[in-house]
Amino acid sequence: MNFKIPIKVKAVLADKAVLANKESSDLMPWEVIKEFKAFILEKNPEGIKIGAVDPENKSLQQYIRQRFGDNVTWSRITEEDLSSILKNHTYDFKTDILELISNSPATNNNIIKIVDKTIKYSFNKKASDIHIEPIKNEAVVRFRIDGTLQTMFTMPINVYQAVVARIKILANLKIDEYRFPQDGRIEPEDFYNTSLRVSTMPTLFGEKIAMRVLDDSHKNLSLSKLGLSEEQERIILGNIEKPFGMVIASGPTGSGKTTTLYALLQLLKKDGLNISTLEDPIEYILMGVNQTQINPRAKLTFPSGLRAILRQDPDIIMVGEIRDSETSVMATNAAMTGHLVFTTIHTNDAPSSFIRLLEMKVEDFVVSSTVNLVIAQRLVRKICKSCAKKRKLSPAIFNKIMERKDIVAALEKRKENLVSELEKHTFYVGAGCEECLGTGYLSRIGIFELLQPNKEIHDLILRHESADVIKSAAEKNGFQDMITDGIEKVFKGITTFDEVLRTTKNV
Ligand SMILES: [Zn+2]
Repeated sequence: MNFKIPIKVKAVLADKAVLANKESSDLMPWEVIKEFKAFILEKNPEGIKIGAVDPENKSLQQYIRQRFGDNVTWSRITEEDLSSILKNHTYDFKTDILELISNSPATNNNIIKIVDKTIKYSFNKKASDIHIEPIKNEAVVRFRIDGTLQTMFTMPINVYQAVVARIKILANLKIDEYRFPQDGRIEPEDFYNTSLRVSTMPTLFGEKIAMRVLDDSHKNLSLSKLGLSEEQERIILGNIEKPFGMVIASGPTGSGKTTTLYALLQLLKKDGLNISTLEDPIEYILMGVNQTQINPRAKLTFPSGLRAILRQDPDIIMVGEIRDSETSVMATNAAMTGHLVFTTIHTNDAPSSFIRLLEMKVEDFVVSSTVNLVIAQRLVRKICKSCAKKRKLSPAIFNKIMERKDIVAALEKRKENLVSELEKHTFYVGAGCEECLGTGYLSRIGIFELLQPNKEIHDLILRHESADVIKSAAEKNGFQDMITDGIEKVFKGITTFDEVLRTTKNV
């Protein structure tokens, strides 16, 4: 029986990786140690000794019995005992893995541990992807954290081969098939909210493995956590409560559009409403929402799926992405005929979304009358709080800012003479520490621009005016672009100019 522990994955993952001691952590995952406030004090052939803050905890007792049998001795420990033990044992992932690789690398048991620990550590570091890449005589393991790939360790080719075989077993893939790409899924036992989508790809030196971490524990996605200001939240709430029309999230791949839409659906979800989605892929599971995965092989495409959903008496529809004219025409028609439709579009900014719909053959009067709101966004990395320090801007960054007319204009709009005073200001930066793996950044947050078209903008759409004209009209009514929002977050010490420059390059 596969006993699953009701751990609050998200909350636990937010904490620092610490372990009671190495043996204990091998037998009992650190998430369990922290959730149950218990760890293994001793283990010998006669049984096991557990120290726990609350030995009477029924779920803990059940978990321990399930794993280690009935020969358990319990000791009560205090919260202080627990935290002092946790504090003194910061987990060193690289050393642990390299030890496993160098000690008799061929043993099956070590390979199982290497794979298991790598997956768990990727969750702990909130990596979005794990890459395993063969390069001649060795293979590199990299994690994508906050959008950037970081090397975690390298291993000899024979260890890599065994690791790939182990991953294929876990993901139900054919072990002896290495000439064709395969895809599968891993559901790690101790993380019932998190799984991995695994794909293999033949490359020059062997198979490359890429694993996407799918975290289903986004239960409490609040708008403020996404990085929206109170004013922006107010505008969004006013628009998602309308009975029909369209709400568009726009931005390039990896800009957090889907997460934003999920957060909105989460807010709307209640009995008495039929919410249906079409997605490719389904990124998180939302309880109470009918989610459908696009599957072209089964002829389930965005247009055919949307046609089917419309026969299912929906109130709210989310179409994962609009990228062709058939889908865009159908989705906007649904929004005109009494449904609230959420979708994403690949455009650089909010005003361009109207133009994109027109380019996809949606009639101008449909565009102007159905779109309630466009939310355009990017994700910027947040400064690591553990190593944040105030510094003056480096000349390199200062010059880069000066080269960007849009950023200079936004600074001038924020405060007169701000640009000339900029060199005197100090700003937070992350110096780099263990917590952020030396990068100075930890986790990400959105920078947003919200466009709610009014009568004037409706007319501009009907006249097929350019995105720039729409933007200037919107600015007269208080529209703020995402660069302005980004600069606000730089001054608040949340992110850096570097990040704003990098993510808004093509706006
Ligand atoms: Zn740090």
